Amino acid sequence: MNPPQNRPWTVYIETMGCQMNVLDSELVLGQLRARNYRQVDSVDAADVVLINTCSVRDHAEQKALSRLGVAKKPKKRNPDMVVGVIGCMAERDPDAIMENVPYVDLVCGPGELNKIPAMIEEVRATREKAVALTLDKKRKSTLLERSLEYDSVEALDLSRDPAPSANTLQSYIRIQRGCDKFCTFCVVPNTRGKERSRPPQQIVDEAKMLVDRGALEVTLLGQTVNSYLHQDGGKPVNMADLLYLLNDVEGLERIRFVTSYPGDFRDEIFEAMRDLPRVCEYLHLPVQSGSNNVLKRMKRQYTRESYLDLIARGRSIVPDMTLATDFIVGFCGETEAEFAETLALLDEVRYKNIFCFKYSPRPDTVADKALADDVPDAVKRERNQRMLAAQERISLAQTQAMIGQTVEVLVEGYSKAAIKAQEAEQSRGEEVSWRRSDQLVGRTRTDRIVVFCGTDAHIGRLVRVKLTGATALTLFGDPVDGVASLPPRRARSADGGLSIPIHG
Ligand code: SF4
Repeated sequence: MNPPQNRPWTVYIETMGCQMNVLDSELVLGQLRARNYRQVDSVDAADVVLINTCSVRDHAEQKALSRLGVAKKPKKRNPDMVVGVIGCMAERDPDAIMENVPYVDLVCGPGELNKIPAMIEEVRATREKAVALTLDKKRKSTLLERSLEYDSVEALDLSRDPAPSANTLQSYIRIQRGCDKFCTFCVVPNTRGKERSRPPQQIVDEAKMLVDRGALEVTLLGQTVNSYLHQDGGKPVNMADLLYLLNDVEGLERIRFVTSYPGDFRDEIFEAMRDLPRVCEYLHLPVQSGSNNVLKRMKRQYTRESYLDLIARGRSIVPDMTLATDFIVGFCGETEAEFAETLALLDEVRYKNIFCFKYSPRPDTVADKALADDVPDAVKRERNQRMLAAQERISLAQTQAMIGQTVEVLVEGYSKAAIKAQEAEQSRGEEVSWRRSDQLVGRTRTDRIVVFCGTDAHIGRLVRVKLTGATALTLFGDPVDGVASLPPRRARSADGGLSIPIHG
């Protein structure tokens, strides 16, 4: 089929949720670019609109439905437009999407995203709706089966575009898909399927390709990334083995991995963090609750004691390591005493930062079917606020103690947050004492966000910054070295910020 008015087809894609979705969107865009699509940043200018959705919380699904509303008028004006819902919500509840948003043409689960180009073609040719889902074979469209050349788990990752893109400097590599843990609150096993680990050689080759196109840092992604295990007849390769293989990739400066599951964590991974210069001293280790009773109801396969023991072992092996975690407050039956145990965990562990969410039941999970969502919303909200306030105090104490230190920062780009703050100050008529638009943002090896005044020449480089100030989540400072003495620059990346974690 010819492109409209003899110009390339245009695609608008919006991404919600975790890093896995960010990577999926990048890979889908790469596939479309290879077919001569051009990415646009407004729905009005798009021939194809894709919303990549998240199902982890009800709020995220409501937001996706509301974002789909932006395509309603443009679709009415241009009936040839293709509107698609992809990702976890598409897999979890395609019927609700089709019923609530009748102008959606395409629904595609996260395990089938390599089919998107063919599905768009099919919709254009037939004006029929196209559906591709992994987990419920009965609902799956048979229309596109013939286009599959690879196992779809691998096809999307193998299609990666070797050309530099906006996010080249820091890149994600999927090393694992799905999860077998079936925590009672979690929808992920229902949307991303059982755990599968990618072959290590493919991961290493992908890392080399990313370095060739400008990456200095790669983040390895998996729902329970530490349980990575690939066995293909030969010697099994586990997560620590994989870190050793990747540490040998020439030109790579930093390796991170998210998200780890506390039940499967082997000390070999800590030893790799200690011994391998490219592996960063940062661990995202979701605990979800500090109460053994709650952990049991969540079917997390560890206890408060074993979690704390793991952290103590980790810190004894990697003393500089920073930790982040996820909490769910107000889970089914959570008493004030159980919540107090969770709150106390903050002071015991002293995380760098936390992600804390109010429990919301997800359809078809064990908790939704078998446990009462009996903590009032006001209590959930109040517990969430107490957690965030306590953590802010801890984070601030940590960042203030760092003032005066010199840290190595990988500079990602101009700080959008700083520019926004400056605009807000100006709109309030406040005097702006210094130009925030010169502010750059980057991260330390331990995942702390650092903002400093610099120039375009700093972007994409490892820069030493002397710290002069701090808020709970951001450090401020001055670059120590002149631009001329910096290592060569690679590529530009997007703004910093704490991205929503994938589950673990
Ligand atoms: S919370 Fe994490 S470990 Fe538990 S089922 Fe979900 S993805 Fe798996």
